[in-house]
Amino acid sequence: MPELPEVQALVDFLRERTSGLAIIGVELGSVSVLKTYDPAPSSLQGLPITGIARHGKFIDLEAEGLHLVFHLARAGWLRWSDTLAATTIRPGRSPIALRCRLSDGSGFDLTEAGTKKRLAAYIVRDPAEVPGIARLGPDPMAGDFTEAGFAALLEGRRTQVKGLLKDQGFLAGVGNAYSDEVLHAARLSPFALASSLDEEQVHRLYAALRETLAGAVRAASGKPAKDLKDAKRAGMRVHGRAGEPCPVCGDVVREVSFADSSLQYCATCQTGGKPLADRRMSRLLR
Ligand SMILES: [Zn+2]
Repeated sequence: MPELPEVQALVDFLRERTSGLAIIGVELGSVSVLKTYDPAPSSLQGLPITGIARHGKFIDLEAEGLHLVFHLARAGWLRWSDTLAATTIRPGRSPIALRCRLSDGSGFDLTEAGTKKRLAAYIVRDPAEVPGIARLGPDPMAGDFTEAGFAALLEGRRTQVKGLLKDQGFLAGVGNAYSDEVLHAARLSPFALASSLDEEQVHRLYAALRETLAGAVRAASGKPAKDLKDAKRAGMRVHGRAGEPCPVCGDVVREVSFADSSLQYCATCQTGGKPLADRRMSRLLR
């Protein structure tokens, strides 16, 4: 899933490519992709693109007061074409979820792999009409996101810090991959309770959050859409690297599995050398 750094890079990429262009048409490959019905997709036709913005993991393409907003979800992606195919996509007959055609013949497709279709698009007059945007917490890359503000958010939250970092209502833009990376950089257990972190740990977590995301934004910036997935994978130190050596201490990267996700961490760096319980693993070993 693209998270803040990749979505930011997509936004920067689109800003550069769509400058001065107008929307010629928005075609849907599946009716369920579009979560709004008014304004209709046809109302975007002919409108010049006036802005591109990121809200958490949402991309917002503005055309004279109307917003085409989309969220790529777990298996969605944006595929840019300098010359978009002339064929019109039709609901139910295409692996493409949404196609946006631009005035110089270029444009992009939103695609989604797998059978669970979660990719969502909205056409609204105000991005805050999108429920997922309305409930977003602060953006960790915003200039006014301070350590004191972050500490105040954590205070009294008797929630595991891993889950909290991924919660879009708590913090906008961080998902499963970067939360693993941030916690590894901060040398904190994913299961530590947010409310139990001391000042020094909050400081480490804040610094790791800002540095990890800023580094990933730098690494992703300027890359074409098609290269972002590989760039993200290449930058990961523990996420998705179970069984490989930790680049900091050389211990093996471990994993905890849940019903539909998993987390990776280094026991030496993060949990005082003690492996975390993995219910799936203990079931297998019983
Ligand atoms: Zn380590």
